[in-house]
Amino acid sequence: MTPFVYQSHPSRVLFGPGRLDSLADEIVRLGARRAFVVATPEQAPDADRIVRQIGDLACGAFCGARMHTPVDVTEAAMAALADADCLIAIGGGSTIGLAKAIALRTNLPQIAIPTTYAGSEATAIIGQTENGIKTTQTSPRVLPEVILYDVNLTMGLPVAISVVSGMNAIAHAVEGLYSEQANPIISLIAQEGIRALASALPRISAAPTDVPARSDAQYGAWLCGTTLGAVGMALHHKLCHALGGTFDLPHAQTHAVILPHALAYNAPYAADAVARIGTALGRPDAAMALYDLNRSLGAPTSLRELGMPHGGLDRVIELTFAKPYWNPAPLDKVRLRMLLERAWDGLPPAS
Ligand code: NAD
Repeated sequence: MTPFVYQSHPSRVLFGPGRLDSLADEIVRLGARRAFVVATPEQAPDADRIVRQIGDLACGAFCGARMHTPVDVTEAAMAALADADCLIAIGGGSTIGLAKAIALRTNLPQIAIPTTYAGSEATAIIGQTENGIKTTQTSPRVLPEVILYDVNLTMGLPVAISVVSGMNAIAHAVEGLYSEQANPIISLIAQEGIRALASALPRISAAPTDVPARSDAQYGAWLCGTTLGAVGMALHHKLCHALGGTFDLPHAQTHAVILPHALAYNAPYAADAVARIGTALGRPDAAMALYDLNRSLGAPTSLRELGMPHGGLDRVIELTFAKPYWNPAPLDKVRLRMLLERAWDGLPPAS
């Protein structure tokens, strides 16, 4: 057995249909009495429903969460916070990011109620954007104290968002398996997360209100998010960060496009990880299996269709080399260029 370090993140997780009913008990369990609810504008009805549900335990709501956690949005939410003593985030990674940003500044405890599969609720990581620059940091302050997974809240998540959000989660687990900090516990979690999501997404695509499929996807998202929170990421996340941050490409869709190519790039240097990903996907050719999964689910497969200018590919390579993440395969400008060209065109990953 290779020596390793494993550190768990303490959070309480409640899972199952109807779990939202436990919300008031969980607020009281935290010792709180004045909960502040955050959501995106689109999910304002969900926030209103929560405020009504918890009655006197609610002290207000802010429904202005936006992608990439802009600092001016956080400041607007802080101005509405009053004397809140806990935060409730209902939504995807954007909303959970806003609650984390408030918790970073106030140390208020958080209850995350995820409604996508991005996995942010299981990490102590926060990315914030100011003046067009996104910076990421890790702090125990931002790890939600409680996660409440209620499958009933995911029934209306559009199939297209479900699919790319699920591929975003799979990307955390793929990179976790070949991470510099990979360890046996997280590898078990990551492999199971990929298996659960890869099995659930086609069923959701075929029948969006299939409760067991939605439930399996939430379970997979939690496992993949746990992986992201526990070990460092590599080239795939670096590329997505550069593409999303500099060219404003949509987050989850960019992950879906890049993942098969990043895995193919790293595959010769990550044989164990590839074998485990292959087992989870039911096919030994793991990178191609991810590409095929994207195609069969109608997810985007090219950077071109996401609006990436071809002339920007050089800049992505520059950014990748300027502040590189640890990666199993050495960074090579020719191979990286080939990766990006294939991803831009929507070609299958290089074998
Ligand atoms: P999102 O939170 O932006 O949600 C996408 C859209 O779907 C929003 O309009 C939202 O209101 C809507 N939506 C969410 N759930 C819904 C539901 N059940 N029904 C109908 N509509 C619903 O997207 P996301 O992919 O979950 O999150 C992306 C953000 O999360 C990015 O900013 C990314 O950087 C961040 N993220 C952070 C971490 C971390 O660990 N810090 C991890 C993953 C993602």
